[in-house]
Amino acid sequence: MMRSFFIFLSRKNGVKKIIEGFPPSKRLVDRFISGETLDDAVNAVKRLNQENIMVTLDHLGENVGNEEEAKKSADAYIEILERIDKEKINSSISLKLTQMGLDIGDEFCYENVKRIVKRAKDFKNFVRVDMESSEYTDRTINVYNRLRKEFPENVGIVFQAYLYRAEKDILNLSNNGFLNVRLCKGAYKEPKEVAFPRKKDVDENFKKLIRISFENTDRIYPAIATHDEKIITWTIDYVKKNKIPEDRFEFQMLYGIRYELQKELVREGYRVRVYVPYGKEWYPYFMRRLGERPANLFFIIKNIFKK
Ligand SMILES: Cc1cc2nc3c(=O)[nH]c(=O)nc-3n(C[C@H](O)[C@H](O)[C@H](O)COP(=O)(O)OP(=O)(O)OC[C@H]3O[C@@H](n4cnc5c(N)ncnc54)[C@H](O)[C@@H]3O)c2cc1C
Repeated sequence: MMRSFFIFLSRKNGVKKIIEGFPPSKRLVDRFISGETLDDAVNAVKRLNQENIMVTLDHLGENVGNEEEAKKSADAYIEILERIDKEKINSSISLKLTQMGLDIGDEFCYENVKRIVKRAKDFKNFVRVDMESSEYTDRTINVYNRLRKEFPENVGIVFQAYLYRAEKDILNLSNNGFLNVRLCKGAYKEPKEVAFPRKKDVDENFKKLIRISFENTDRIYPAIATHDEKIITWTIDYVKKNKIPEDRFEFQMLYGIRYELQKELVREGYRVRVYVPYGKEWYPYFMRRLGERPANLFFIIKNIFKK
């Protein structure tokens, strides 16, 4: 219920101004977003790298409406890749296809992202194509597939465990080339026709996808993106029992969530990568994070009544 409400609010831009003007909610924004500029983001990467945590940088933005804006978004990512190389920091990039013009047209979007992936190849870096709501899944896979053919080592995709189709997708794609995949639960509001409505089923499917990936490490490199300790513990038990080497997978978490756990996993010898978002377009991303955990909202409400 609450998650749906926040996803609904994430489309109402007027609420953004209220959040910005109210210090406690602004503080919460600062917890999840590294800042508005690339300098802010680079500083966050450096802090995390010092703890041996790898990063993937996200220049916030989604659903751009015209070609000019989409091209500008791609230019911003090329600038990030150049900066990563110059600063010698350990970071890849993550982007959304609707930010690259998917709503304008598949071909336009493909060409726009290709510019970025080509540049990533020059720098031996990597581009993760985030997964958005289910209306975009097929088109996202198609664009990804075309890019993977040309740049097999420089591009990856995401599958969401709440979608019934995720298992089939992962098997199909791994049969047609090496698959670097981020596995996550899924962050959008989806109808029961396409997604498991119950959390328990999503968690079970998540484990199933992880198992499939580990049974095929010659064809699949999974990035297990979750803060759910039960799933993380289950994964660690699985890799220990099945002797999966630590360099055949990684854990991923979001900036501002479970930092101590991130460091603990690194200490135990696991690869950990943190998704660091930055930029002015933080509002929809922030609202999705707020909706994922009631405690985030209670933090704001508590502060409303504090003197
Ligand atoms: C690196 C990364 C990349 C992602 N990329 C995508 C993507 O491309 N497409 C997509 O649909 N989704 C993406 N997601 C989001 C994901 O689908 C989930 O919505 C999100 O991670 C919350 O689910 P969870 O697995 O952490 O488990 P949950 O069961 O939701 O949470 C488990 C525990 O994690 C902590 N936690 C979780 N969320 C929060 C929060 N917002 N604030 C504070 N604590 C929290 C709490 O302690 C909670 O009890 C990504 C997530 C990560 C970590």
